[in-house]
Amino acid sequence: MSDLPPNIFLTGFSYTGKTTVGRLLAAALGWTYVDSDAEIEQRAGRTVPEIFAQDGEPAFRQWESRVLAELAAGERRVIATGGGVPLAEANRRVMRERGWVIGLDAAPATIHARLLAAARDGVARPLLAGDDPLARITALKEFRQPSYATANWTIATDCLSPKEVADEARRAFERYAGRDRTGTAAADAPDLIRPTVSEREAPYCAGAGAAAIVKTSAGEHPIYIGWDNLSDLGRTTRQAGLTGRAALLVDAGIAATHGERAAESLRSAGFTVAVREVPPGETSKSLAAAAALYEWLAVHRFERRDTIVAMGGGVAGDLGGFVAATYLRGIALVQVPTTLLAMTDSSIGGKTAVNLPQGKNLVGAFYQPRLIFADVSLLKTLPPRELASGWAEVIKHGLILDRQLFEDLEAAAPEAARLDPERATDVIARSAAIKAAVVTQDERETGLRMLLNYGHTIGHAIENVGGYGALYHGEAVAVGIHGAARIGEHLGLTDAATSERQLAILAAYGLPVRVPGLAVERLREAMKLDKKVVGSRNRWILLEDIGRAAIKTDVPNEIVELVLIELTR
Ligand code: NAD
Ligand code: ZN
Repeated sequence: MSDLPPNIFLTGFSYTGKTTVGRLLAAALGWTYVDSDAEIEQRAGRTVPEIFAQDGEPAFRQWESRVLAELAAGERRVIATGGGVPLAEANRRVMRERGWVIGLDAAPATIHARLLAAARDGVARPLLAGDDPLARITALKEFRQPSYATANWTIATDCLSPKEVADEARRAFERYAGRDRTGTAAADAPDLIRPTVSEREAPYCAGAGAAAIVKTSAGEHPIYIGWDNLSDLGRTTRQAGLTGRAALLVDAGIAATHGERAAESLRSAGFTVAVREVPPGETSKSLAAAAALYEWLAVHRFERRDTIVAMGGGVAGDLGGFVAATYLRGIALVQVPTTLLAMTDSSIGGKTAVNLPQGKNLVGAFYQPRLIFADVSLLKTLPPRELASGWAEVIKHGLILDRQLFEDLEAAAPEAARLDPERATDVIARSAAIKAAVVTQDERETGLRMLLNYGHTIGHAIENVGGYGALYHGEAVAVGIHGAARIGEHLGLTDAATSERQLAILAAYGLPVRVPGLAVERLREAMKLDKKVVGSRNRWILLEDIGRAAIKTDVPNEIVELVLIELTR
């Protein structure tokens, strides 16, 4: 160990994981972690963007070199460097002399996907400005690549978790950094093993091409959404690190068609597949149905290292997820949502449940899948009312959090509603990404996740009064969304134009906005039972603008009453 360089420098483009990996690596080595940008900000008393704006880039580069040299003078430090550091020969020399340089790399598509996820978390990202951010990232990265390539060791991070990257960095450092010092080329290192994925598969996985990454306390997993991509299910499942046997629990309504193709894809990727059909409909979300599945899994000797693939709508997903969470105290789960609601809502977030005679979803668990995989083209066989019902949640995501999505949904209404491959896949993937971002920020539903209840206070009441099934969930939510906008209007929170646009888009996607004849009295009663009642008042999600929602608890009863009358006329 005595020959090892005194410091480790991490270089690479933004969003290659320098900070997270640097912290993990420093902790593993018992060294100190430092971030050169953070050090600059501390010394300058200003943020990096401020220095850029006020003093210009050359001044910032000087700061960068000065601070880098200072940090490099110490030892036992893992130093994460700014994306532009290796561009200057002077910086490269400092790093070479005072340490070992590990470059973290990622495909432009991976960087883009990570940036999008961060931007949805509310972090402003100048790299995303302009109308083709991916092209800009690609160009900028290409320009810098020769400088990045001067690292002593490069790790492709696309398919690895931060911990896996840190592990590999440590292994490489302890094994080869000494040799570098004594003049032996690092390239003659045949015995380095890359964790979990093979080189051949690397360009495709985790992040690259994913619609979103869901990050939770249980780890992170990608959501893949494509058109006519079902034949990739098996390969993608392998890339998620799963192997062995797969229990395909599939909604019986789609078993012969889509289920068989899914099984085939899994088999061709090397899985041994056992298929079990789940009868369609809400009655399958029962303890009895779960018990039957446990027995079937046990008879087929499914073990902890095997995987449950739950394929279908929210019913198959909730039931399959619940069984995966509990069988053998939890076995790996892959969600393959096949309804629009499941693709953009129920498969994301880890809520699994079955019903009791006393009520819906009363027994369940939070349990995250290892992968969510959706083929939008499967929606072509979905009954039109089911499809329309799903659009309500997609539109809702735009209304509460993403004005751009809403406007794209408006512009694409006829094509998307008709499932034009490109348009539909795009808006569905973005809607799923919003749910993923909300779940990432608020896993256990304490704050932000409440916004997803937009339209659901009245919506649930309508479902209760109408008896489950009279209006589909999304249809009831559409009426609820319209009701919430009307309440917002009465309060002076939502302007009439916003409410009008909302009305128009709901109609364009084939959704109702009224429930003529339903008894206001009974709706009012049903609303008292709503889970989101605080004190004796409902908690309302209302719109301040398109893309901006607020939570309000003090809505006067008279206003609610007025709106209910309007909705039922
Ligand atoms: P669903 O699962 O009952 O599916 C609706 C119907 O569509 C079924 O008859 C099914 O056989 C059929 N189907 C599914 N995919 C098809 C396809 N591609 N082509 C043709 N037919 C297809 O209904 P859903 O709306 O997807 O889910 C509703 C369930 O989701 C409810 O039980 C609800 O409680 C649950 N849910 C869960 C969450 C959550 O966070 N876990 C969120 C929202 C809703
Ligand atoms: Zn809903």
